[in-house]
Amino acid sequence: MTIVTKRMLRTLVIFLALLPITAFAHFILFPYETKSMLIDFSSFKKEGRLYFNQETKKSCIDNTASLIDSASARVSRFWNGKLADPKFIYCERDADFRNYCANPGSPAVTYCKMGTYIVLNKEGADLDIIAHEISHAELYTRVGFYTWTFVIPDWFKHGLAMQNDYRCYYSTDTLIARTDHLKNMPDITRFKTGAQFYIGTTEQIMLRYMTAKYVVGQWYSREKLNMLIDGLNSGKSFDEVFHK
Ligand SMILES: [Zn+2]
Repeated sequence: MTIVTKRMLRTLVIFLALLPITAFAHFILFPYETKSMLIDFSSFKKEGRLYFNQETKKSCIDNTASLIDSASARVSRFWNGKLADPKFIYCERDADFRNYCANPGSPAVTYCKMGTYIVLNKEGADLDIIAHEISHAELYTRVGFYTWTFVIPDWFKHGLAMQNDYRCYYSTDTLIARTDHLKNMPDITRFKTGAQFYIGTTEQIMLRYMTAKYVVGQWYSREKLNMLIDGLNSGKSFDEVFHK
């Protein structure tokens, strides 16, 4: 056995020894995300990319699948094509949702790590909410884990996803009414992390969503978005590519 082969074997043994430790550490740090990533090994049944508790009514499964199709078509038009292929975990029972969602107060969550996983409760089975979550998956798929996690600020992720989320209470009209004709909008660019974005009352968080939607909507064109993604993928900072 050559020295190179011995080294490769040693590296492989160390890697295999560390794998369960790493997986366990990931579970301790991110239990909901880990469970979602392991959905194939759960008791949930699946149809295509949609997973659900076996007790879920057929009509609910069909309805959710149909909403996912419509939302995917909407998001695909926005992105000029679809690259992401998320797994959808539909939780009709609250107990299931609490098992997969870190924030049960929200109707849906998207996890982006080694693929994309969208967890929905009954309220989350909604065209706008699903389109919003798929939009996150599309951006993640175009930039990868590092840029998604460490480079793109949360306000932009949500603002961009909101371009496919037509719920009227996040509209510009609502924002105008809430901010005295846009004079009192929060400085949305301060909310860079999830912890910053989600702090405060429901009213404050909703105002951040509608402000992010407005700010990104004012900035957006397909060309600018493509340039932003190319810039990020070539290692430029978010501020540099966003303000270009
Ligand atoms: Zn979002």
